[in-house]
Amino acid sequence: EQLANMIAAGEVVERPASVVKELVENSIDARATTIEIHVEEGGLEMIRIVDNGRGMDREDCQLAFERHATSKISNARDLFRIRTLGFRGEALPSIAAVSRMELTSSTSSSEVGTHLLIEGGQLGTISDKAAVKGTEVCVRSLFFNTPARLKYMKSIATEVGHISDYVNRLALTHPSISFLLTHNGKTLLQTSGDGKLLHVMAAIYGVQVAKLLLPIAGETLDYKWSGFLSKTEVTRANRSYLSTLVNGRYVRSYSINNAIMRGYHTLLPIGRYPIVALQIEMDPSLVDVNVHPAKLEARFSKEDELCSAIEQSVKETLRQGLG
Ligand code: ADP
Ligand code: MG
Repeated sequence: EQLANMIAAGEVVERPASVVKELVENSIDARATTIEIHVEEGGLEMIRIVDNGRGMDREDCQLAFERHATSKISNARDLFRIRTLGFRGEALPSIAAVSRMELTSSTSSSEVGTHLLIEGGQLGTISDKAAVKGTEVCVRSLFFNTPARLKYMKSIATEVGHISDYVNRLALTHPSISFLLTHNGKTLLQTSGDGKLLHVMAAIYGVQVAKLLLPIAGETLDYKWSGFLSKTEVTRANRSYLSTLVNGRYVRSYSINNAIMRGYHTLLPIGRYPIVALQIEMDPSLVDVNVHPAKLEARFSKEDELCSAIEQSVKETLRQGLG
């Protein structure tokens, strides 16, 4: 089983940002409204996630580390199946297999919380802990027992960059969750969780930039969109400052980005970017977000219609905002 966990770990845990992703997704699944992410040394030293979600009782805590089908990777065909279908129920055991993990959790009905230690996948002591509804997962010494993987890590700044990009995207898609991200004790992002996209953008890009944002909104028969965009270019902005949220998920779409940029055509010097966050709602049958395994690339079935509507909407918003 340990071997299976290590193999799975290689797939699930590519770098510190993948640990953050899996753990924060669990917090969101547990309906947390406050999620703290504390990272040290790019996440290689420590990643600690604290949420106020529904928590786990003692039995759930232990179950979470038993891959629900231990015999799953019994032959090469199964291994392939797992690679292609993804890893439901594999994240915690996989991360635990390549780190020293501490889990503390309690539910609203727990009289006492549970504390677990797992080192390199080996379940250690289970003890009581004062009950505070929610879950705290602390991952230390990531890849300590997989030196080959450790060797592939880039600089601390690069790993922090990946984590920070990921948390920013989550904050944009979940304005009603309060996020705190710190690195070596320094706050990188703090959102209020008040549900307002504009406030999340102010937290990410700065209050001064947010003051210059224009609201954008519109709809066609098939699509409805709203969000905010800057009147002009923003210093240091690049393509990653164009955020598209489709049906509540962060997606990447070159065609939508290009449509947005065409909307700015006369306003931006070549190579300069604005800040834009656009929430687009549509019938789920009109979008395919499963093109890429990380589920970021999106394809739309009426892409031309959508893109020209967005382009017109951006133009119109800028014309009114500047006129
Ligand atoms: P999956 O999310 O695919 O079910 P994971 O390995 O990520 O698999 O998590 C295993 C289980 O542990 C989850 O299904 C959930 O029941 C529980 N769990 C993990 N993290 C949390 C959390 N932060 N709060 C509550 N339950 C959690
Ligand atoms: Mg999970």
